[in-house]
Amino acid sequence: MNVRDEITIEAHAKVNLTLEILGIRPDGYHDLRSIVMPVSLSDTITLTRTPAVFSLTLTTDRGISAVQIGPVEKNLAMRAARLMKDRYGVRAGVRIHIRKRIPVGGGMGGGSSDAAGVIRGLNELWGLRRPDEELAALGAELGSDIPALVLGGTVLMEGRGERVHRLALDGPVRGFDLVIANPGIHCSTAEIFSRWKSGLTTPPKMVQNMAFSIRASDVKRAASLLHNDLEAAAFEGYPAIARLSETLRRVGCLGVLLSGSGASVFGLVRDRAQGEEICRRLEADGIWNVLAHTCPMV
Ligand code: ATP
Repeated sequence: MNVRDEITIEAHAKVNLTLEILGIRPDGYHDLRSIVMPVSLSDTITLTRTPAVFSLTLTTDRGISAVQIGPVEKNLAMRAARLMKDRYGVRAGVRIHIRKRIPVGGGMGGGSSDAAGVIRGLNELWGLRRPDEELAALGAELGSDIPALVLGGTVLMEGRGERVHRLALDGPVRGFDLVIANPGIHCSTAEIFSRWKSGLTTPPKMVQNMAFSIRASDVKRAASLLHNDLEAAAFEGYPAIARLSETLRRVGCLGVLLSGSGASVFGLVRDRAQGEEICRRLEADGIWNVLAHTCPMV
């Protein structure tokens, strides 16, 4: 068995290029259909093998609030490690260090990507060799976004997030440049979902059309197809998000969308040069921002 003592993982944030709510399931969860894609913005996780002890330490980059992350025992990374240990009967422990760059409560799956990174990382560190599908199903026990992030790449996520499969991209795809901005507020996922009202019709063939634009690396077409059924609820509950979205449009983004359940907003841009210019303008207004690109294959 190939067992290592320490590994480092980039836990990528995600954006939902499309997010449809198809209804509410008998178990109370929303029935979703969403194209999820990792972005270059990531937390860096270092996992060090220990004889038995479990520990977690964190450092945060500029603008990332450590307070909002909450206690260590509730941290999704820690919970993922304990779940892996229990499920696979592992004797060893692990020291986890996370360098956080993904805004907390930003709708970019920060906590979920840390959990997904730990699941994948421990699979390697502890030499478990479990298949991706099994690890994704394990992740579903901790949170809806985790299976998609365990699989990685461009994923169609359905159900409450537990049904995931990678979109076939037929060869290398370039991905899109995007500016991510955050209004500096924390937005509760449960609250946004509870504010959602059914009734709006969604454009037909959304997944097929967006998948086509991704394969063709057609940023203009993708920008015109961006869709998130939670946007109206987020704008209504948090006017600062609506204002930020308007700002991104005004400074020239090709298409702007609420990220997941918020509070971050992202805008697709023509190229890096335009993205850099937009970031400078947001910076001048004191708005937290980052220039990133989608990672269709990671
Ligand atoms: P969601 O997956 O619910 O859309 P999000 O992207 O909006 O999440 P996260 O950054 O995952 O937001 O944080 C949501 C909450 O999860 C935080 O307020 C925090 O209490 C908790 N949390 C648990 N583990 C972590 C972690 N490793 N990093 C950040 N937050 C975490």
